[in-house]
Amino acid sequence: MANWDSRYIHDHALRAYWQPTGDWDFRQRVSALLRQQHATWPMLRDAVTGLVAAEYKPLSVKGCTVLTQFNPARIVSTAAKVDAATIKQRACFLCCENLPPEELGVAFNDEFVALCNPFPVLADHLVIAAKEHRPQLIADDFGALLDLTRALGRDWFTLYNGPRCGASAPDHLHFQACARAGVPLFDDFAATLEQSPDTVRLSWQTDYRINVLAASSRKRDELCAWFLRALTELARVTETSEEPLLNLLVTFQHETWTVFLLPRGKHRPACYFAEGDAQLTVSPAAIDLSGVLVVPQPAHFARITATDVAQILAEVTLDDERFKAWLQAIQ
Ligand SMILES: [Zn+2]
Repeated sequence: MANWDSRYIHDHALRAYWQPTGDWDFRQRVSALLRQQHATWPMLRDAVTGLVAAEYKPLSVKGCTVLTQFNPARIVSTAAKVDAATIKQRACFLCCENLPPEELGVAFNDEFVALCNPFPVLADHLVIAAKEHRPQLIADDFGALLDLTRALGRDWFTLYNGPRCGASAPDHLHFQACARAGVPLFDDFAATLEQSPDTVRLSWQTDYRINVLAASSRKRDELCAWFLRALTELARVTETSEEPLLNLLVTFQHETWTVFLLPRGKHRPACYFAEGDAQLTVSPAAIDLSGVLVVPQPAHFARITATDVAQILAEVTLDDERFKAWLQAIQ
């Protein structure tokens, strides 16, 4: 395993940026890390300044708000080539030997390190990368994603983008985490979720702007077992022998996890590949589907409409027929 020792920032260095009143825990360490990196890493500081000034255009899709976000810096991720040949040739940007010298991190359990995302979409945007260069796959690490979400607490959410539907490093396992406030999906589902269920409770909304399933439980092991079954059934319904196309968002509050499963129809919509006025460079992943849709090109941001967004969401998420078949199999 690569040696991350020189990349960790220790508590004595973090103390210059924040003094928590109680003991240091992971949440407090990453809060201090965000301040330290903002102060010492010019690229991150510029990115955060850019995000604060980002323009938004709210659009209504099936009665729900989607915030389109004009974020030119994200062109790197939105237009990233993620085919096997390109990935094999590039230096992996999540491996410790390839990080910029200013980039430091905080350890999470024995296998992960939390870093600041230099291309943020939301406030306090972290990347939590495996220390080891190994493929983006969720089955064996879903429990770690739950643990991470609990460690960050109720003001954050975590996410996972599948290797074929949004991850810009499909060859290096990573999660992301961001501040939770203002993300439309969580507000849209707030009224339908049960607090502290003892078994896995499922929730979905017919005629919502995308097909999304929320699974809540306070029992980690039960939720892990249920998730593996849901993953297997999704692979069957979508007829794939690989990991099925899926984005995940996870929250933790009232001692309860809620996992939002966003099954996909495909990676990129037709308008991504179109030419002239029909072209819209958007490439939805978990945050976009949660209701903050990144549009990096100024002309595309100006012309994108609610009809375009509805069409994009319909194309990249799972259709009604297969979503219902999946629900029937896992209820
Ligand atoms: Zn790597």
